[in-house]
Amino acid sequence: MAKITVEQERCKGCGICIAFCPKKVIQLSKNLNPKGFFPAELINEKECTGCAICALMCPDVAIEVYRQEREKK
Ligand code: SF4
Ligand code: SF4
Repeated sequence: MAKITVEQERCKGCGICIAFCPKKVIQLSKNLNPKGFFPAELINEKECTGCAICALMCPDVAIEVYRQEREKK
């Protein structure tokens, strides 16, 4: 279980994170952000692996990745 958040104000809608996401779970929002760009958003939390490639590739450091620790048995 993992998810990302995109800081809407930082994102310039370049689409690099979308191009590099191996799971193809990011898309551009249909809503403009305050800068006049369509920001990226996560569309399928279940499929996100938390690999953080999107965050590494984002030139504007707009993405944070959250991973849930596996429960120890
Ligand atoms: S963490 Fe990985 S799987 Fe999740 S959105 Fe980013 S690139 Fe895609
Ligand atoms: S790579 Fe960064 S700036 Fe570009 S669309 Fe993705 S979150 Fe936005």
